[in-house]
Amino acid sequence: MATAIYAIGIGSNRRGRHGGPADEVRAAIAAIGGLVAASPVIGSAPLGPSIRRFANAAILIGSDETPPVLLARLKGIEAAFGRRRGRRWGARVIDLDILLWSGGSWRDPRLTVPHAALSARGFVLGPLARIAPGWRVPPQARSVRQLAHAVDRPRPRP
Ligand code: ATP
Ligand code: MG
Ligand code: MG
Repeated sequence: MATAIYAIGIGSNRRGRHGGPADEVRAAIAAIGGLVAASPVIGSAPLGPSIRRFANAAILIGSDETPPVLLARLKGIEAAFGRRRGRRWGARVIDLDILLWSGGSWRDPRLTVPHAALSARGFVLGPLARIAPGWRVPPQARSVRQLAHAVDRPRPRP
């Protein structure tokens, strides 16, 4: 049995070698492994020539890794999928963020868990509420369901 459960947020807004954003998200889920639960892949068609297609999902995995070890592995998967570093918020083939950890909170210079923007992002909380509505998020211990209801209407973001 895995010693920890993690919730991971997956996002894509660029084509990669697996296909479009939704294909990239599905391929990333397979690459991460240890799957316990997966939300549907929430996507959108581009609304115009300049607006990107995006896809988001959340998964739960079982793992024996510590949060920094998991982060390092996720970054390796991002790199293998062709993500270029150094452009936060830009177009990316895949973004893999640690949202929650069953061990509670983690904070070091490179990693904050729960993810710092979790409670502000409908496009993360929506998928997460499909698989872990009752998970209580530190430090306030509000449930994912409560946070998802409280957040502004979901908007597509990278
Ligand atoms: P955001 O974190 O706002 O979603 P992003 O995912 O686009 O932005 P990245 O370029 O993927 O940002 O990551 C920037 C840095 O954030 C990473 O190098 C990592 O060290 C750090 N980081 C801090 N907390 C986390 C977390 N919970 N999950 C993933 N990365 C994190
Ligand atoms: Mg992110
Ligand atoms: Mg990230």
